[in-house]
Amino acid sequence: MIRVRFAPSPTGPLHIGAARTSLFNWLFARHYQASFILRIEDTDVTRSSEEMTKGILDGLKWLGLDWDEGPIFQSKRLEIYRQKAEELVQNGHAYYCYCLPEEIQKRKGDALSEGLKYWEYDRLCQRLSKEEKERFENEGRPKAIRFLVPEGEIKYRDLIHGSISVDSKNIEDFVLLRRDRLPTYHLSVVVDDLEGRITHVIRGDDHISNTPKQILLYKAFGFEPPEFAHLALIIGPDKKKLSKRHGVTSVLQFKEDGYFPLAMVNFLAQMSWSPGEEERIYSIEEMIKGFSLDKLSKGSPIFDLTKLEWLNGQLISQMSSGELVSYVKEEFERENLWQDDLENERKEWFLKLLDLLKERSRTIKDFPLRARPYLYDDISYDPEGVEKYLKDEKLEELLPKLESDFEEMEDFSAPHIEEVLRKRAEREGVKAALFIHAVRMLVVGEPVSPGIFNVLELVGKEKTLERINKFKTIG
Ligand code: GLU
Repeated sequence: MIRVRFAPSPTGPLHIGAARTSLFNWLFARHYQASFILRIEDTDVTRSSEEMTKGILDGLKWLGLDWDEGPIFQSKRLEIYRQKAEELVQNGHAYYCYCLPEEIQKRKGDALSEGLKYWEYDRLCQRLSKEEKERFENEGRPKAIRFLVPEGEIKYRDLIHGSISVDSKNIEDFVLLRRDRLPTYHLSVVVDDLEGRITHVIRGDDHISNTPKQILLYKAFGFEPPEFAHLALIIGPDKKKLSKRHGVTSVLQFKEDGYFPLAMVNFLAQMSWSPGEEERIYSIEEMIKGFSLDKLSKGSPIFDLTKLEWLNGQLISQMSSGELVSYVKEEFERENLWQDDLENERKEWFLKLLDLLKERSRTIKDFPLRARPYLYDDISYDPEGVEKYLKDEKLEELLPKLESDFEEMEDFSAPHIEEVLRKRAEREGVKAALFIHAVRMLVVGEPVSPGIFNVLELVGKEKTLERINKFKTIG
């Protein structure tokens, strides 16, 4: 039975890198109908907080990554880690270390000043006599437990990076249980992965250097280690590790910014892998079906916000206006633009407006601003657009003619508006674009908009005329 886990430390929100790690664990679990376990690694009490744990759970829920077991909190299992460390002392794989931090510092300092490049713990306490140990015990000196690193080569096959081998002489006798009786990460992670019968450890490749130590621990406990897959870390456009400096923090920030979880999941997955040839939104089912660790690329993917925007835009254009309405409403309310009749009397009209706006929208946040000119008459005119499209001298004479054409229309529908406008342009010997740009500026205040004839139909004849009429005051 395949079992995987996601094991965040709640010392910050669920950031993009961790979200991607959890997604790949989840896809792997769902692909193999395996179990996905959530474990909160909160033994570092000073840096962990309940608020961050909640943020992580909320982030996972928003992405739709449900877990089958947990959350297991390491802070509730401290006694177990202590017992396990003692067990390793009893069977000779670990030893008590009574050294004070300042003693260690001193020995290290002395050695380095004598020209040694690298110092590792000198096993002083492993060589203590029975009497010396008793003396420390009687003194009541706090003790740590250190792992006795055995000699030899540690080899494993990483499912992404291939064979990795490390000589154990480069690994010092690392601490398992600190003097304050708290476990180190190596101890708690191995104890929990063993107890959880984890078969595949899928995590960021910042942990690659930890793996040999953990493999030694598995063996010391008498078990074969699980499979390991270390995911390449996401980097920023400057090729540095992704961080707050890049303006990218919590996954939930993207929810705030108007992105959909399906777009986010596609974005996270497609940084290292694609379920198909095309660049598009894939359904969760497609992703689960096509997922395989060996298809993931080894190289570090670059965080590219434009790709996320594009994917989100794709998703928005595929959604029906009916599906969009509740999300959009929330944004309108936030911007104080919501009008209650948009859900009642003007519902049909509003759905048409959403259909029109969704083609060019990248996030839900784009809607309120773009919708404004359709809902309110106090248009703000883009100054560059005014310069470019409303300064042609001919407009003063021609616009009133177009206005009267519109005035006479009974059926103010897009195709009909187009016909009338083009005919007028032809008759006057000017390009239709002259009218189109000018009318767009006057009606929506922006040099770009969805198809202008649809826009005018939606704005309606009366308002269109009123707004064209303002030319005298603006142009
Ligand atoms: N708690 C570790 C972290 O947040 C993950 C440990 C692991 O996956 O082995 O980086």
